[in-house]
Amino acid sequence: MFIGHAAVALAAKPLAPRANLGVALAATFWLDLVWPVLLLAGIERVEIAPGNTAFTPLDFVHYPWTHSLVAALAWSALFGLACWKLGRRAAFVMGLVVLSHWALDALSHRPDLPLWPGSGAMVGLGLWNSVAATLIIESAMFAAGIAVWLKYSGKVSLAFRVLVVFFVLAYLGAAFGPLPPNAEAVAWSAIALWLLPLWGWWIDRRRGSS
Ligand SMILES: [Zn+2]
Repeated sequence: MFIGHAAVALAAKPLAPRANLGVALAATFWLDLVWPVLLLAGIERVEIAPGNTAFTPLDFVHYPWTHSLVAALAWSALFGLACWKLGRRAAFVMGLVVLSHWALDALSHRPDLPLWPGSGAMVGLGLWNSVAATLIIESAMFAAGIAVWLKYSGKVSLAFRVLVVFFVLAYLGAAFGPLPPNAEAVAWSAIALWLLPLWGWWIDRRRGSS
């Protein structure tokens, strides 16, 4: 899932007004932000395997430290603690946003998410087996997230529009674009996701709420 994760960050704003959108985007993508770092370090592994599911050619061979349920719970707790100075409410909501990533991945992926590092029990409901269902559900989530954000923030800045266009183009590129040449290219394009929290931070600061 991609824009579905973004939707969670946008929708979290009214629940945790003190958390900047950049923090919320870092939370919702946190597991996918750490993942490419561990890929490049050789600790986790992804392979290009067209047909793995209908939606993605990626085979998530080994990613227990970012995408097992227990790891996700630990990252959620750590992220929540790191947000403690924003207040208990924002810290709690941001921790849940981190955990939402695992839940949404469990909805999308085929059973490849381990329950804990070393566990043979794999979870995944396989929404990605249908391109149409994936596009419909994720687009609806994204639209709802944008609606919540707009209602809360009251105005649409150019920087926000650019963020939305970026998400849509990147999503369509992932869904219908060419195959990535190799796993390293996948890792580096995921590293680029680190720009999203910075961009979100800038949008929210300009809005004058942080
Ligand atoms: Zn993920």
